[in-house]
Amino acid sequence: MSFSLPKLEYSYDALEPHIDARTMEIHHSKHHQGYTNKLNAALEGTVNESKTILDILNNLDMTNMALRNNAGGYYNHKLFWEVIDPNKENSLSENLKTAISDAFGSFDAFKDVFSKAAASRFGSGWAWLCVKNGTLEVCSTPNQDNPLMPNGCGGTPILGLDVWEHAYYLNYQNRRPDYINAFFEVVNWGVVSEKFDQAS
Ligand code: MN
Repeated sequence: MSFSLPKLEYSYDALEPHIDARTMEIHHSKHHQGYTNKLNAALEGTVNESKTILDILNNLDMTNMALRNNAGGYYNHKLFWEVIDPNKENSLSENLKTAISDAFGSFDAFKDVFSKAAASRFGSGWAWLCVKNGTLEVCSTPNQDNPLMPNGCGGTPILGLDVWEHAYYLNYQNRRPDYINAFFEVVNWGVVSEKFDQAS
């Protein structure tokens, strides 16, 4: 079995002006394609070849850097495209709204915690909202690591933000906080709510 680049369910310019078309095109067709190709190369001829991506991540040998970087890169970007899908019904469910209030006090407080995690990730990495032990937690990981990996921050990610420079540099240059604000303009809370129900 080999993995293929997940099809984007919307056009590269669909998130303008928050995320520009050129960034989307390069990010999806070059970066995500690259992780996908290198994941397949890392799996070829190994015991992991027939496993699902979740199985690979959950049981990852963290010293296998080719598999770690590219299985993470494949999974993380797949989730990222889904949670910014502009075509799906976009509404925060009552369940998720309540869970956010319970965990963070308010939606604005959650946004603040998540934005700080994304802004303070040194170098490249991701910020996450996860369901962990029945509650919501924010964490961040370096490079293409994610919460599902052994020694990761744990839980099931339901929202992820890519803070690698390749995700924003063309439009935002060094202004990562502006990009983080723009991300909140395009998050599809309907999709995140579905992922919350599945993970809970
Ligand atoms: Mn990326």
